Amino acid sequence: MHKIIHYRNKCIGCGICQEQQPERWRMSKKDGKATLLKAAGKKDVFILPISNTQVLHAQEVAQACPVRVIKIT
Ligand code: SF4
Repeated sequence: MHKIIHYRNKCIGCGICQEQQPERWRMSKKDGKATLLKAAGKKDVFILPISNTQVLHAQEVAQACPVRVIKIT
């Protein structure tokens, strides 16, 4: 199974992930960082399982992140 992993503590809040995939990412009004919707998280690492058909778009978003804090496994 593929997963999106978001290392949220290193997010710089640029908003690109939300622009590219608003149904999956939301900018927090509290701290200005991105939140991976429906992800399970411990501390600052959030994980969301995705299907095979969702991998390509997830990879595009991950590559667009300027600090590369989104990983796809
Ligand atoms: S693209 Fe990366 S740095 Fe920018 S808000 Fe999203 S996770 Fe944070």
